[in-house]
Amino acid sequence: MSEAVRVLLDESRIPRNWYNIVADLPAPPPPPLHPDTLQPVGPDDLAPLFPMELIAQEAGSERFVAIPQSVRDVYRLWRPTPLIRARRLERDLGTPAKIYYKYEGGSPSGSHKPNTAVPQAYYNAREGIRRLTTETGAGQWGSALAFACAQYGIECEIWMVRASYDQKPHRRSLMRMYGATVHASPSPVTAAGSRILADHPDSPGSLGIAISEAVEVAGADPEVRYALGSVLNHVLLHQTVIGEEALEQMAAFGEVPDLIVGCAGGGSNFAGLTFPFLREKLAGRMNPVIRAIEPEACPSLTRGTYAYDFGDAAGLTPLLKMHTLGHDFVPDPIHAGGLRYHGMSPLLSHVYELGLFEAAARGQTECFEAGLRFARTEGIIPAPEPAHALAEVVAEALRCKETGEPKVLLTALCGHGHFDMNAYDRYLSGEMEDLSLPQEQIDTALAGLPTL
Ligand SMILES: *Cc1c(COP(=O)(O)O)cnc(C)c1O
Repeated sequence: MSEAVRVLLDESRIPRNWYNIVADLPAPPPPPLHPDTLQPVGPDDLAPLFPMELIAQEAGSERFVAIPQSVRDVYRLWRPTPLIRARRLERDLGTPAKIYYKYEGGSPSGSHKPNTAVPQAYYNAREGIRRLTTETGAGQWGSALAFACAQYGIECEIWMVRASYDQKPHRRSLMRMYGATVHASPSPVTAAGSRILADHPDSPGSLGIAISEAVEVAGADPEVRYALGSVLNHVLLHQTVIGEEALEQMAAFGEVPDLIVGCAGGGSNFAGLTFPFLREKLAGRMNPVIRAIEPEACPSLTRGTYAYDFGDAAGLTPLLKMHTLGHDFVPDPIHAGGLRYHGMSPLLSHVYELGLFEAAARGQTECFEAGLRFARTEGIIPAPEPAHALAEVVAEALRCKETGEPKVLLTALCGHGHFDMNAYDRYLSGEMEDLSLPQEQIDTALAGLPTL
């Protein structure tokens, strides 16, 4: 790491504000609707699920939101995160491109998720909430929220998608170590889970199903609230600490990115890295191409439709206008569990509709190939999710090799893969395959979209 960037790791460089891109967009995003009245949801509709401060942030349009000092104090455990030039990867590829990555894997739970888990636990604790419920896919969000709840002395109850629960027992252990209770989803603990188990006893689960379970339990108890690790506006807001730091650090390197690439599941790490750069782009101060990468097995941006849909499988959430594969869509159990969500953040979907970034899909084997190449050159084992972005970075760097263009590439390495060894083992032993997603499967799920 260069001297310049080491200076920027001083804790005084932790941003003082989160950035809300809504203030700078030419049109506001369509509001979430109440499924019965089809009217925009108000604070009262959301009050059973979220604390008032987060409800205000969800609907807010102020450009900057001050980060509470208590949250900055916890951020200090791992922020600012380093921005690193991948010189060894560049050399291995023989590319004239410069590759920079913002590494979020040094957080307590190993991903970018604590950036929002900490403020969410903080606001709930401040409003007297006793317990938070949530869902988790790969387990990264569950472990982040379990850690954050422990910081503020509140309980944490987690529904973990069955496919990941079985594939990643050590993520479950981590959540328990931080003091959380963990159920495999679908679970017999809730009505939503029981209904699905009755029809599909072997269901691998999905984020949509797990959300239904966590929302059901939170909605039934006034001392319990729900927390979501992606998708919602306040989550994207909190994640902008990534991009704000990266902006300053790229400037310290004397670089302006030509291309920014991130993986997108619900869209939070991608938005967190790119929104501050998008602000600069909208203001005419730089002009990077911005590209989201999603898995071929769950391609909400590239093959989904832009429509109002439920955020969960059982239809308990408000209707969200987003790129979606339909709330009934259950993606194949690929190893990038964090990218197995049927929808895309409504705010990010809106920004996509405004034409402000591009999207592409990649199959998992080439992502693991890129992940392995990264591990062998840079030393860090990437989580399967950011390996999707790395596959795109590698492809772009190889294009630069052909054209001779010394482009500046920037990506978010949003988590490490230390809990993903089963997946890497499968790749190394040649057992991993790319699963094709037939159009009929998408059409069937889209036929279940709510009619307005
Ligand atoms: C949760 C997670 C994702 C997917 O969520 P986004 O909201 O799209 O960022 C991607 N990578 C990692 C490491 C995750 O933990």
